Formats: sequence, structure tokens, C-alpha cells
Amino acid sequence: MSRVFNFSAGPAVLPEAVLAQAQVEMLDWQGCGMSVLEMSHREQHFASIAAQAEADLRELLGIPSNYKVLFLQGGAYSQFSMIPMNLLRGKTRMDYVDTGDWSSKAIDEARRYGDVNVVASSSAGNYTSIPDPATWQCDPNAAYLHYTPNETIRGVEFGFVPDVGDVPLVADFSSTILSRPIDVSRFGLIYAGAQKNIGPAGLTIVIVREDLLGQTVPCTPVMFDYNVQADNGSMYNTPPTYAWYLAGLVFKWLKAQGGLSAMAAINERKANKLYAAIDASDFYHCPVDLTCRSWMNIPFTLAKPALDKAFAAEAEQAGLVSLKGHRSVGGMRASLYNAMPEAGVDALIHFMQDFAQRNG
Ligand code: PLP
Repeated sequence: MSRVFNFSAGPAVLPEAVLAQAQVEMLDWQGCGMSVLEMSHREQHFASIAAQAEADLRELLGIPSNYKVLFLQGGAYSQFSMIPMNLLRGKTRMDYVDTGDWSSKAIDEARRYGDVNVVASSSAGNYTSIPDPATWQCDPNAAYLHYTPNETIRGVEFGFVPDVGDVPLVADFSSTILSRPIDVSRFGLIYAGAQKNIGPAGLTIVIVREDLLGQTVPCTPVMFDYNVQADNGSMYNTPPTYAWYLAGLVFKWLKAQGGLSAMAAINERKANKLYAAIDASDFYHCPVDLTCRSWMNIPFTLAKPALDKAFAAEAEQAGLVSLKGHRSVGGMRASLYNAMPEAGVDALIHFMQDFAQRNG
């Protein structure tokens, strides 16, 4: 077996120890004689897997007891609609911060349900910075304020949690959840697609404060009602059982690494190494403002864009895959999620230096 270093933005690399354990348990989960893939979600074996995963996630993130944790389907994209459907609560206005492609998509979807007030946007600067919160035009009567702590495509990350007073704060943590500790009590709702830092595609995690539940807009589909999902333990219908199980293995792995403070130190070190290598070179360039560079997704361009194809192809031959930037922006992007070993970052830096020397 030979494994590559996978820099994909998602679905993305998973911890090898997790994949190995899943392989060992594939035919016979803990002596029960069947695979997790074959289990009824209504019976005891899966119930214990589900409960343990939730308990471990609660422990990792320090989730207060007045928050529900939901294990849903539909991807983070479905949350773009579920959030206004559930959190408007009789209001008509919602605040959104526009810092890139994903916040823009969330805004477009929210516009179907009410008046979206874009409190600030960094689009004029090609989404390479975060607008100064002192300039945000917030509405104190907004149903909530939505922002995207990490923009996966352009690699822009908030280094702070916005202070919006009593307005519930809603955050799309898809590409940065579990990369460091967060104070969940600052948020009304946190959501994340699993396929980056949590586990396989097909699972979406929502962490929501209980007092925000129970006031959906008329005609909300039953599957999109957080309260229904919460009352049914995220099992109103058949949940994505295998993805839930694998997420649970990832949570156990994170605890064994020392939890989220330990991950934060590792993630900061990995990202800083790569940024330092980019900044030290005339051949590579990262367009993102120094104040908001992502630890998770690092975009960079080559001084000679004609060499993009050769760079990606040679990197792949060296066992460094999925480095091509998002199709909407081009260039390169290295995603350094929790499961990317430090050796992968070292190998990438070594390759980049060698490529620059040969082509500069
Ligand atoms: N939000 C962010 C920040 C993302 O990075 C993505 C996907 O990459 C999405 C939302 C959409 O997620 P999904 O494909 O799970 O619907």
C-alpha cells in the first residue's frame, strides 16, 4: 500500500488510524457479527455509536447543555435554506457578512425567505480580506447575523468571533470546525458539512441553541425543521449511519491527539510553515491579507501561470495530489485539515522549492 498526501479541499484526507480501525471493524463491529453499514439505526448497537459520537463531540467543543447537536444530511448547502426557515422566528430581516464565494451563496439562498442586509462585503478587494467589524452596518432587529469563519475557496479566515450583541450569531464552520477550540456559547447556531475536518461526505452537523427552535416559517418541510430533528435524535428518517460512525472515530482520534488545543498548535505550525515558504519566494504568491490567512486552505499562484499544469502534474507524480485551485479562481490551493500530517506539508514545501529552482 502506498498513500499519497492529499491536499483536497473536500472530501479530504482522513486520519490513517481512523481508516485502519474502520477496516478492522468492517465485517464485524465489536463482535456483533455485522458491519456498521448493515445495522438498523433503531437498534442498540447503532444507538450506542450515535450517542458516543455526540458525547465526544460535546466534550471536544465544550458544547453547553442548552445546545442541541444534530447529525443531518443535505450538506452545508441545505443549511443555507434551513437557517432562515428556522431562525427568522416571525422577523423579516437577516444580517449577512459577505467574505467570499460561500457567504455569497448563503446570501443568495437566504434572499428567498426575507430581506437580507449585507452588513459588509470584501468583494471589491476580490475577497482577500475581512471587512473591519467597526464598519459593519448591523441591524439590531435582525433575526440573526450569518458569517463564514473560513472561506474554503479563497482561504480567508476570521481570527475573531464577531460581537453582535443579542442578535444570534450563525456561522458556517464547514472548513474550520475542530481545527481549534471555539466558545460555542457565543453562537446561536454553528453548522458544518463533514467532508473536511469531521469525516465522510453525507453528514452535516448542526449545533443550535435550544431557545431558537420551534418557530419555523410556514410550509417548512418536516425534514428541514430543526425541532423535529432534535426531538427525534436526528433519526426522524434514516440517518447517514456509516458517516456518523466514522465521524465518531475521528472524534476519538482528536481526543487521543490531545483535543482541540493540541490540534490548534499543530495546525498553526503547519500553516505558518507553508506561508513562510510562499512569502520567502519570488516564484509563489499568496493574495490573502496577512491578517486573515486561513490555517486550513492556502491558495497560491505561480509567477508563471503557464506552468500551473506542469506544477500540478509533477506534484502528483511526487505523491502530492489535489493541489489545483478551485475552478472559479485558478492557481493552486493546499488544504491542510487536521488529518494532513506535518510530513505532508514538509514534502509539499520541498517540492515547491525544487520546482521553483528548476523553473524560476
Ligand atoms: N460552506 C463552505 C464554507 C464550504 O466549503 C462548502 C463546500 O465546500 C459548503 C458550504 C457547501 O458544502 P456542501 O457541499 O456540504 O453542501
